[in-house]
Amino acid sequence: MNTTIRNADEKINIDQLIHRNVALSPLSSFGTGGEADWLATPKNLPELRAIVGWAREKNLPVTILGGGSNVLISDDGVEGLVLLTSGLTSYHFRGSIFCTQAGLPLDTAINVAIEHSLSGLEPLGGLPGTVGGAVRGNAGAGGLWISELIEWIDYLDSEGNLARYHGIDNGFSYKHSPFTGTNRIIYEIAFRLVPNKNSSDARLKKEQSRTERLESGQFDFPSAGCIFKNPRGTSAGKLIDEAGLKGMAIGGATVSENHANFIVNNERKATSNDIFELSTMVAHEVKKRFDIELEREIILLGRWNI
Ligand SMILES: Cc1cc2nc3c(=O)[nH]c(=O)nc-3n(C[C@H](O)[C@H](O)[C@H](O)COP(=O)(O)OP(=O)(O)OC[C@H]3O[C@@H](n4cnc5c(N)ncnc54)[C@H](O)[C@@H]3O)c2cc1C
Repeated sequence: MNTTIRNADEKINIDQLIHRNVALSPLSSFGTGGEADWLATPKNLPELRAIVGWAREKNLPVTILGGGSNVLISDDGVEGLVLLTSGLTSYHFRGSIFCTQAGLPLDTAINVAIEHSLSGLEPLGGLPGTVGGAVRGNAGAGGLWISELIEWIDYLDSEGNLARYHGIDNGFSYKHSPFTGTNRIIYEIAFRLVPNKNSSDARLKKEQSRTERLESGQFDFPSAGCIFKNPRGTSAGKLIDEAGLKGMAIGGATVSENHANFIVNNERKATSNDIFELSTMVAHEVKKRFDIELEREIILLGRWNI
C-alpha cells in the first residue's frame, strides 16, 4: 500500500497506523467476537483525520470502539475499519473546565479531575470504559448522568470536519445522546466541574462508588453490564428475575445469578452468538410473562444477520 498523507505540518504514514485482521475479543469486556478487517488506534487529531480519510477514500465503513464495555461484537467480525480510541488520552484544564480526549478511561478521568481539585464526576467511579463511550451512551450511575456535566463536545462529522456540540443544546435522554445512531466520532469532551476545597473527600466519594461496584460482584465474570434498558416505570432486572430466568444458559452464556440484567461469560467459553441468542430468549420470556418489550442496551457491532 505505502500511502503517505500530508496533514497539517505532519507527514503521516498510514501503513504504520492501520493493521489488517485484528482479533477484537481482547478488546471487548465480554471477551467474545471475531476480527476487524482493519484496525487503527490514532494518537492525535491529525492521525484520526488521516485514518478516517483513508477509510472514506476506500469506501470502508468505520466502527468506533472505546473500552468495549457496552458492545457485542459479531463472531463473524467487523467489516471495514475499526477505530480504537484508546490512543486519544490527552487532557487539559481551563479554570473549572476539564477537557479530555475521548479515549481516556473514565475512571482515570475522574482521578485526574480530583487531582486538579475539581469535583462532579465522582458518582461514576469504577464505571468501565472510556469518556467517549460514556458520553455516546449517556452513561449514568449513583444518581448522575454524564450529560449533566457536559459543556461542549468536539466531534468529527461524516465529512471528517471538526464540529462542536454545546451541552446546553438538549440532545441527551436516557441512554441516548446526539451521537447515538450516527457516524460522528467524539474527539474531545469539556466538562464543567466544581472546584473542591477538599480533594480527600472527593477521592473518598469516588473510591466508595468504585468499591460498591466491586463488592456487588459486577466484575466477577466477563459481561457488558446491563443487557437491556429499563422499560418506563420498572427495571429490566426485576422483570427478568420475576420471570425466573436467573441462571438460564445457552452455550457458554448465562443470565447472572447475581444481577438478572447481566449476561455473563462465566466460563469464558461463550460466543457472541450464545449471548445474542440468550438475550433474545430472555426478551421473549419477559414479553410472554408481562407483555413488556425489552430493548437491548448493548450495541451490536459487526456482521449480524438479524
Ligand atoms: C461491569 C459493568 C458495569 C457497568 N455499569 C454501568 C452503569 O452503571 N451505568 C452505565 O451507564 N453503563 C454501565 N456499563 C456499560 C458501559 O460501561 C458504559 O456504557 C460505558 O460508558 C461504555 O463505554 P466504552 O468506552 O466501553 O464504550 P464501547 O463499549 O466501546 O462503545 C459503546 C458505543 O459507543 C460508541 N463509541 C465509543 N466511543 C465513541 C466515540 N469516541 N465517538 C463516538 N462513538 C463512540 C461505540 O461505537 C458503541 O456504539 C457497565 C458495563 C460493565 C461491563
